[in-house]
This record gives sequence, structure tokens and C-alpha cells, in this order.
Amino acid sequence: MLNLVLFGPPGAGKGTQAEFLTVSYQLIHLSTGDLLRSEISGQTRLGLEAKSFMDKGELVPDAVVIGMIKLKLEAHSEARGFIFDGFPRTVEQAQALDEMLNAGGMPISGMLSLEVERQELIKRLLGRGMVSGRADDQDQAVIENRINVYVEKTAPLIKYYEAQGKHFGINGMGTIPEIAERLKKTVDSLTCQC
Ligand code: AMP
Repeated sequence: MLNLVLFGPPGAGKGTQAEFLTVSYQLIHLSTGDLLRSEISGQTRLGLEAKSFMDKGELVPDAVVIGMIKLKLEAHSEARGFIFDGFPRTVEQAQALDEMLNAGGMPISGMLSLEVERQELIKRLLGRGMVSGRADDQDQAVIENRINVYVEKTAPLIKYYEAQGKHFGINGMGTIPEIAERLKKTVDSLTCQC
């Protein structure tokens, strides 16, 4: 099984690159951001609760996102592997994910960490907001907060996966195909039987 964590700050290109990796390696793409937005459009209780955090650029409580991922893992027990996009975002989430995957004997293969400069992130997010209409991509203060939350709560996961020998830094600056190629090289090195 190939289980990848696609990691990086908001605007690093995780969603775009996850689509390509999903097709190339036939993985199931699990994006907690997408799952939460679909709860919001369905006007579920979970969606309403999550929206208040997302609108401010804050993290949704760990128990909510961990519960969503658990259900998805159970629903796809036949999968060749998963690509986790936007999850985990806290050490608690990473520990919960390790527990769930290790219990099934299918640990994380690697964490691919897209590295992008702050000014470029802000530019990309504002650009995406104009096209997607995502409220949290349209307000510069919310964008800045999301990046600050990333630095404070999510970036420590780099050390968490480094300690397991699973962290792979990837230059996330450049064109989409250039970045895709860098990711592919790293994933191929993980799957190589040589
Ligand atoms: P994303 O689409 O990954 O940029 O996520 C959009 C928003 O959804 C984030 O700013 C958070 O409010 C929320 N969110 C997504 N994934 C998580 C997660 N793993 N933990 C907590 N909140 C999350």
C-alpha cells in the first residue's frame, strides 16, 4: 500500500498536485477541506459547526476531522492507498492517523512537503479566491491567519515525520508540471523495489 501525506501551507498547491498523484498511482484522495466544504453545502450540523472556524481561518476541532477520516478509511478498505491532503494539521491528528493506519498494518509511506514562499502563497490564494469564490481565499486577513495557524500548529508536523524518517521536502515554486515531476521522482523512490 502507498499512503502519502501531501503537506504544505495553504496555497502550496496540495489540491492540484493531489489530483495528479491520485491518477498516476491510483490512490484515494482524501481532502479534509473538500469533505468539510461538502458538509457545508449539504447544510449538515457538522458543516454548520465547521463553517464558523473555516470562515475565520481557524482549524476545525481535531475530533471532527479525525472522525471524518476514520469513516473514509473504513469505507475504502479495498484501496491501493490514500493521499491525505490537508490532513493531518496538528500533532494530535498525526498521532490519530498513525494509530488508525498502523492498526490496519498500512503505515504512512512518506510525507511530501511542498515548500513555497509566503508572498507567493498570498498571491496564489487571492488569485484562487477570484475564480473559486471561496470566502476564505478572498479576505487577506483570513489568508494571513491561515498561514499563521499553519506555522504555529501544522509546521511542527515536519519534525514529527522527520523523526520517523518519512519527511521529504519538495520545492513547490515553479510551474504545475515542474512540481508534479519533482513529486513523482520522490514517490517513485519510495515505491522502488530496487
Ligand atoms: P483547505 O481546503 O485544506 O485549505 O482547508 C480549508 C479550511 O478547512 C481550513 O482553513 C480549516 O478551517 C479547515 N480544515 C481543513 N482540514 C482541516 C484539518 N485537517 N484540521 C482542522 N481544520 C481543517
